[in-house]
Amino acid sequence: MKRYSVFAVAREAARYHEGWERAWRKATPKKKYDVIIVGAGGHGLATAYYLGKRHGIKNVAVLDKGWLGGGNTGRNTTIIRSNYLQDPSAAIYEKARSLYETMSQDLNYNVMFSPRGVMMLAQTEHEVRGYMRTAHANALQGVETRFISPEEVKKLVPIIELKGPRYPVLGALWQERAGTARHDAVAWGYARACSDMGMDIIQNCAVTGVRSENGQVTGVETTQGSIHCDKLGIVVAGHSGVLAEMAGFRLPIESVALQALVSEPIKPCMDVVVMANTVHGYMSQSDKGEMVIGGGADGYNNYTQRGSFQHIEETVRSLIETFPMISRLKMLRQWGGIVDMTGDRSPIISKTPLGNCFINCGWGTGGFKAIPGSGWATAEMIAKGEPGPLARAFGLERFREGRFIDESVAAGVAH
Ligand SMILES: Cc1cc2nc3c(=O)[nH]c(=O)nc-3n(C[C@H](O)[C@H](O)[C@H](O)COP(=O)(O)OP(=O)(O)OC[C@H]3O[C@@H](n4cnc5c(N)ncnc54)[C@H](O)[C@@H]3O)c2cc1C
Repeated sequence: MKRYSVFAVAREAARYHEGWERAWRKATPKKKYDVIIVGAGGHGLATAYYLGKRHGIKNVAVLDKGWLGGGNTGRNTTIIRSNYLQDPSAAIYEKARSLYETMSQDLNYNVMFSPRGVMMLAQTEHEVRGYMRTAHANALQGVETRFISPEEVKKLVPIIELKGPRYPVLGALWQERAGTARHDAVAWGYARACSDMGMDIIQNCAVTGVRSENGQVTGVETTQGSIHCDKLGIVVAGHSGVLAEMAGFRLPIESVALQALVSEPIKPCMDVVVMANTVHGYMSQSDKGEMVIGGGADGYNNYTQRGSFQHIEETVRSLIETFPMISRLKMLRQWGGIVDMTGDRSPIISKTPLGNCFINCGWGTGGFKAIPGSGWATAEMIAKGEPGPLARAFGLERFREGRFIDESVAAGVAH
């Protein structure tokens, strides 16, 4: 595949951009692969990429029932941070954050990583104590964060109202090297790199059954026929329970709709990401100028991939307390995705009761930031048959053994 570069852009400009090749090949399923990954979201594609890049396993197919990146990967609000409290979480999210820093060069695809800084507002005394504790934990984990004063918050975010009617801003947990990236570009960049390694990315190919013999996986049934494989990776986020049922086991996962919205574009007014967990909402400004606002998750299980008005109203009403200027904005559009929530709000990267069948799920409302680290860890587990250091704590057995990774700062709702 031809490399993207400034020279390529100049060359193609001279010939009316008619020479660009497809970013990834259109593929039809072969009879058999060494590894099949179900789910062409960021986590599935990153897993395939690192299988090829780090472990030399390239006879791989990534199957998706829709279009690649059309699940949560293309629906999130793109916040990337690694300021988690528990050591296993900080390790995998920090690995991911550091991989994001070099992802554009690594994939030869501009994923627009923007390390603009993420702040989590402390608006109650309880939050002040919690975030100070997290800042101390992060220092021990080698994750750069610090607790900042309300004055520093105001300096970084001039549009904020520090003395809101219900909750004043008492400070914030600030991670300067956190930020955002372009979500579709992450999926497209990985897909292009996988295709370049000879892997098949097969869209519109829903998996409808998992085949096994003597307790070992042997392949999948799909809407494009049966495909055999030696190893299977299930990476389907909100549909994990459905795929697990096909493979004959149950997961401690609940699927709910989570939604977000964007405003009309306005002039640049906020160049960091702000999360306000107490009033429940978070906001950043996109490169186009839209205010990107994250809303809440539904309080009941469902598979509806769309938003609902009561959450929008709730989120905007709360955020206006901290950002009064948004009351004058028109909202442009809203959408939803189906997220997969575990009881301890931590992911699952694990072997399963079915031999050579592996699962990656449970990222809930906050897995975009984890994509490269998760792909790295899942590829290692699939290649070696056992979870490596990054994945070990996230096994399914923790639910049986009561070894939860109780990540209260993680993505209960905020991302
Ligand atoms: C509104 C919203 C805001 C969010 N904001 C953030 C944020 O700011 N920061 C952050 O870190 N995270 C955020 N998240 C969470 C993040 O988007 C997800 O954790 C992450 O994208 C999950 O990626 P994935 O690759 O596991 O899943 P997905 O991208 O959902 O991919 C799974 C794929 O599996 C496919 N699939 C399902 N069933 C089948 C089948 N039977 N056969 C074949 N294919 C199948 C689907 O079509 C889909 O493409 C947000 C999520 C939402 C919905």
